[in-house]
Amino acid sequence: METHFSLAALADPDVAQSEKILRACVHCGFCTATCPTFLLTGDELDSPRGRIYLIKDMLENERPADARIARHLDRCLSCLSCMTTCPSSVHYMHLVDHARAHVEKSFARPLGDRLMRGLLALVLARPALFRLSLRGAGLARGLSGLLPGRLRGLVAMAPRTLPEPSTVDRPQVFPAQGARKMRVALLNGCAQTVLDTRINEATVRLLTRLGAEVVVAQGAGCCGALAHHLGKASQSHAFARKNIEAWTREIEAGGLDHIVINTSGCGTSVKDYGFMFRGDAQLAEKAARISAMARDVSEIVAALDFRSTGNAAPLRIAYHSACSLQHGQKITQEPLSLLKAAGFETLSVPEGHICCGSAGSYNLLQPEIATQLRDRKLANIESLAPQVIAAGNLGCMVQIGSGTGIPVVHTVELLDWASGGPKPEALTAAAGA
Ligand code: SF4
Ligand code: SF4
Repeated sequence: METHFSLAALADPDVAQSEKILRACVHCGFCTATCPTFLLTGDELDSPRGRIYLIKDMLENERPADARIARHLDRCLSCLSCMTTCPSSVHYMHLVDHARAHVEKSFARPLGDRLMRGLLALVLARPALFRLSLRGAGLARGLSGLLPGRLRGLVAMAPRTLPEPSTVDRPQVFPAQGARKMRVALLNGCAQTVLDTRINEATVRLLTRLGAEVVVAQGAGCCGALAHHLGKASQSHAFARKNIEAWTREIEAGGLDHIVINTSGCGTSVKDYGFMFRGDAQLAEKAARISAMARDVSEIVAALDFRSTGNAAPLRIAYHSACSLQHGQKITQEPLSLLKAAGFETLSVPEGHICCGSAGSYNLLQPEIATQLRDRKLANIESLAPQVIAAGNLGCMVQIGSGTGIPVVHTVELLDWASGGPKPEALTAAAGA
């Protein structure tokens, strides 16, 4: 694509980076075929190519964003399906990240929008505040008819029960069982420590059983992705910085082989810390090192030579491949191979490349599109009549689980079960229902 940026504009390294990405696009439009929002709306401006044009126009002409640009960029799920499809390797993720930060800086959103986005960025990333808000939402459920529309929607989506905080999520070291094969830091995350503590518990059991020493590092927490996708660059960088510093302290103190992430949305983000801090003289090297050490939990389990003990029932599993795992990290085979090695029958979900509509806080901000995508995903999954749905990302689990009676579990819960751990609670509850 031909571009006409001024030299002054190109002096900004973020603009220069975006210009390079724009020039790689050859307008072929292959990406439109696999873009979930284009599939639903049929509007070119809701396709990757259309959004690329909008971004080019805005950045090249050094214009502030307007309501139209914000609307079409807000509708993008950041699912990155377009990056998998693109034959020219256009790095849409970095382009849309930059564009979102530009929208955040240059466009005055309506007050309700601003409050909602500010609230989500503040609350979701802070477990204590998130827990308190969910309890408040539970109390407000009876009065939800009196709340304004968006807040009513949020209250309705709040889970009715919450697990107690898990001791696993406190900073500590879990020794390996038997000979230690590696030492890893586990990102225990933010929303996950509130909504589903079983995932980190299963991860620690599984990894230590396979010979990894697992560290939950003091000072590590939210990866920053939630704020990042809202265009709030300084907030997301602050979270990322804390993680980089926490893990660097751990590397220097006890050594680490890898950083393990069991929520793939966070994994995509941590793997991008090196890019995020590329211009930061103090952090660039440390951030690049952390990104190079980051692994999805399925990559680590595969490297640790996972073996089934025949503990689990040979259930029919529909494996939902989260966008952040298949498109963001290009991990498609490891989870499936591990589930097969564990003795499960894995079923291939039709339209598996299409997002379920979760996408961080997207389902809270764009509920109409998110619900259509969830229902489309569920129709595809339910056509297989699975006994269980497995996924490697909490957001997808919550989104898919909100529309079906089929139990939804994290892949590590199944692998933990198959190698000697307890049966996942969601399966026990479904069997007793
Ligand atoms: S990230 Fe997903 S929703 Fe956004 S343009 Fe690409 S394919 Fe479409
Ligand atoms: S597939 Fe790639 S090169 Fe083609 S229009 Fe989409 S982003 Fe541009």
